[in-house]
Amino acid sequence: MRIDIATLFPEMCERVFNESIVGRGIKNGFIEIYAHNIRSYTENKHRNVDDKAFGGGTGMVMQAQPIYDCIKAISAQHKFPPRVIYLSPQGETLTQNKVRELAKESGLILLCGHYEGVDERVLEELNAEEISVGDYVLTGGELPALILTDAITRLQPGVLPNEDAYSIESHFGGLLEYPQYSRPEVWRGRKVPEILLSGDHKQVMEWREKMSLEVTKRKRPDLYEAHINRLTERFIVDLRSVAEVPDDTEFAKIPLSEEDLRLVKRGKVRCLEIDGDIGSYAILTDFLGIPKFVIVITKKLEHFVQFRLVYKPRNNSL
Ligand code: SAM
Repeated sequence: MRIDIATLFPEMCERVFNESIVGRGIKNGFIEIYAHNIRSYTENKHRNVDDKAFGGGTGMVMQAQPIYDCIKAISAQHKFPPRVIYLSPQGETLTQNKVRELAKESGLILLCGHYEGVDERVLEELNAEEISVGDYVLTGGELPALILTDAITRLQPGVLPNEDAYSIESHFGGLLEYPQYSRPEVWRGRKVPEILLSGDHKQVMEWREKMSLEVTKRKRPDLYEAHINRLTERFIVDLRSVAEVPDDTEFAKIPLSEEDLRLVKRGKVRCLEIDGDIGSYAILTDFLGIPKFVIVITKKLEHFVQFRLVYKPRNNSL
């Protein structure tokens, strides 16, 4: 893959992308990254690239001509027409999903604005997409372009030791990563969780999965809710593939302890202290909200309902 950064400060970009993992990725031929000085393309005899905004107001605007010529010259060096991305606080907010999408391209041109931004007409002419690194305003597009370049580079085959190095990290699968620890085992009286020293790979994996859910729930409830909704939707699709459930069914969600869920699974519990009409469906979840089983209420008693288990996925970890 090739990334070109069109900027007024190419040295600032080069200093960053030639360092560390990205720099090694370039040296080892896993990615090509170049910075181009937009100023080199100006037709202005004073080498200016900006002018006052029509309509007045403070601040200068980057002019269309040098940007257009710079990007056309870079495009001509690509085998396939590259996507042009203008880093802008008005753009789509960058996410790991967007990074994954862009990492599959063969080439990208990143345009860095400065001052009040760039002449709107050049963005239209270049059909530029806009990407933001967050809802705040920086002085220039270089840092955002470097953020995007870094995030894309680490997904290029060969840059990191293996796919695990990024596929289990925060945001890749919609969750945050579990906590990490290194030597020593005890530091200022704080111990590394025992399970990580056990050498039991399966238990370590289960602990990490659980911690990843807990950390996401605590730090990013928005991501957690989206994750649970995705799981629940998938769960209902799987349920419908094995059981006849009316299309307009609404599913109540009942959280139960692992102990109770195990009893339900083994058929040791036939009543639950919940509310619901006869014939209504409910998804039994664990305390983290992960769907485990589906029941239908068959009888109402004074404080309990009786139920029938209608869906018990085989891959259930209980
Ligand atoms: N006048 C512009 C506005 O209000 O939308 C802001 C211009 S900003 C001071 C200068 C340049 O920094 C922009 O052209 C853009 O390239 C870059 N920039 C600033 N904040 C950014 C952000 N959150 N994401 C991406 N680029 C940003």
